[in-house]
Amino acid sequence: MNEDEIKEINDLLSSPKNIVIVPHRNPDGDAIGASLAVYQYLINKGHHAMVVSPNDYPEFLHWLPNSKEVFKYDMQNRQSQAAIDEASILFLLDFNALNRVGDDMQHKLETFVGKVIMIDHHQQPDDFADYLYSDISICSTCQMVYHFIEKLDDLALINKDIATCLYTGIMTDTGSFRFPSTTSTTHRIIANLIDNGANNSKIYNNVYDTNSYGRLQLLGRALSNLVVIDKLKTAYIPLSQADLDEFNFQKGDTEGVVNYALSLKGIIFAVIFIEDTDQEIIKISLRSKGKFSVNKFAREHFNGGGHDNAAGGKSFVSLDSTISNFLRILPDYKKELLNSYEE
Ligand code: 5GP
Ligand code: MN
Repeated sequence: MNEDEIKEINDLLSSPKNIVIVPHRNPDGDAIGASLAVYQYLINKGHHAMVVSPNDYPEFLHWLPNSKEVFKYDMQNRQSQAAIDEASILFLLDFNALNRVGDDMQHKLETFVGKVIMIDHHQQPDDFADYLYSDISICSTCQMVYHFIEKLDDLALINKDIATCLYTGIMTDTGSFRFPSTTSTTHRIIANLIDNGANNSKIYNNVYDTNSYGRLQLLGRALSNLVVIDKLKTAYIPLSQADLDEFNFQKGDTEGVVNYALSLKGIIFAVIFIEDTDQEIIKISLRSKGKFSVNKFAREHFNGGGHDNAAGGKSFVSLDSTISNFLRILPDYKKELLNSYEE
């Protein structure tokens, strides 16, 4: 975003507006953290703001400040549609292609006539927003929201709630500050957020130390389902609907599980295949180390995308067929897989 655009946004936000904030479907810590931070920021500036999420998010994010104020488009459809109708500004956060909100909400957003501001760190953004702040080098949308507030010269408005939401999104999207996208700038921002009231230890506990017994049992099943293909530096985990049902699966229970496959010594490509009989899809999460781009792999083969080292996708055939397809494609990438990462 250039100086002129910042000035235009400053002008837009200089008088009270109705504003709707939208994260992607199945929002993660970064998407919902960014949305609630922008929500609180806009309220502090005197606007009428609402977060409208396409659907619900995991229980381990429900403690976030103002989480109760979030509307779910699928469950509170009438109110959500009315809010979008009445809004003159739309913030789209942590996604860059309109189909990431799901069909129903996508159709609604396509009819929106006001100004659209998109803040996102994924690759290859669509041309939908009036103001696009896109930077694939930044670890999280929450860090970008911090920079956005800084560009608008409003850092003084960052209170404890905003700091808490931004900290949460940066922590979750960086794997607790360990991914290569974590920079010294990230740590400086984190320091400022702690100074503004974010309680780092409490936030970690709220997100990561609130597992249910079923979730840990499901993790056990996932680990025993793990398949390792040493010669292609690849590991994958199939999880069937029966596995999920056996351990009373709740939204969010499989989040992060794919990272266990990537934690194996010598493995640089990890995938989890999760059967969803309700939606009739196999949800796929892909992770890599080094140069091997799972964004590219997910785009080319599994109707998805994301970042170079973390992407998602889906398949519309059975779990077994999905894995057979995967195993058939995989050897084509042998050279890239073997040359991706030096220990
Ligand atoms: P996850 O595997 O945790 O669902 O997603 C990993 C990353 O890929 C996240 O940044 C997420 O936003 C992105 N992602 C997940 N699923 C999709 C998808 O279907 N399409 C695209 N373009 N990105 C996705
Ligand atoms: Mn993100």
